[in-house]
Amino acid sequence: MKLLVTGGAGYVGSNCSARLVEAGHEVVVVDDLSTGHADAVPEGCRLIQADFADVASTVLGEGFDGVLHFAAKSLVGESMQDPAKYWHGNVVTTLRLLDAMREHGTSRLVFSSTAAVYGEPDDVPIPETAPTRPTNTYGATKLAVDHMITSYAAAHGLAAVSLRYFNVAGAQGRYGERHATETHLIPLVLQVATGQREQIQVFGDDWPTEDGTCIRDYIHVTDLADAHLLAIENATAGKHAIYNLGNGTGFSVLQVIEACREATGHEIPAKVAPRRAGDPAVLVASSERARTELGWKPERADIATIVQDAWAFTQSR
Ligand code: UDP
Repeated sequence: MKLLVTGGAGYVGSNCSARLVEAGHEVVVVDDLSTGHADAVPEGCRLIQADFADVASTVLGEGFDGVLHFAAKSLVGESMQDPAKYWHGNVVTTLRLLDAMREHGTSRLVFSSTAAVYGEPDDVPIPETAPTRPTNTYGATKLAVDHMITSYAAAHGLAAVSLRYFNVAGAQGRYGERHATETHLIPLVLQVATGQREQIQVFGDDWPTEDGTCIRDYIHVTDLADAHLLAIENATAGKHAIYNLGNGTGFSVLQVIEACREATGHEIPAKVAPRRAGDPAVLVASSERARTELGWKPERADIATIVQDAWAFTQSR
């Protein structure tokens, strides 16, 4: 298939583009490089450097079989301080994408959604049928896009899949996580191991969990890329399928830090700090639906592998 990847110079987008190329698809990346990196775009992909909202119609006019839409604003804290940036960057831009897809008859869409659409869950593991009550603007904008996609699929026959990621981590060779503003636990812990940071702050040790720190479901970016390939290839006309992507196993902040100590051989000093606003205590996915309907099977579920791959990437830079 000829596929357009928005945000293909970013962490998840570049990993997924590499997987699509490997599977034999033709990939064109659109990225404004505001947070992505030109050298992360895999070989064999054409890069169009532009804000997707400005060029959606022109680019899709070339003729594509499908779009994988990664380009988005994704910092929770920033979304609370500057909501307009998120409603425009995530919702308005995706609306333009959907209209351009309709205009040019592009039939398939895979959208990067997030566990943040669920907010504080009643039960874990979280199935796709759980109530959606986002606790931050970022999650609200992603949920709004999911609603838009549902209606476009029903009315216009779009073949759409939303993938709700839990905590993406790890790396695949030269495709790894390198954000200018880093907020994620694993890359921050590894920055302590490289000496860029003196210690890691543990946001709260009084949560209702076994060791008192928050539990998350970490998913290897390579497993995530496999799910995108399955999603674009199996999307069905007129249907908006929604899948949670996680391993179904949670690790606490302290367990992640310990795994990083083992992978790096560094003592990684940790200091307990106040809770971070908006953090739920436990977020773990039920990915039964992705396994059953897509035939997805994560191959790198253990935290040691995830951390080792992230560390190999960090060291390579
Ligand atoms: N966390 C932490 N210290 C940090 C960064 C994150 O204790 O410096 C915790 C955070 O509170 C959460 C977990 O690590 O419980 C994962 O956070 P991250 O930002 O990586 O992902 P999120 O779950 O927010 O999507």
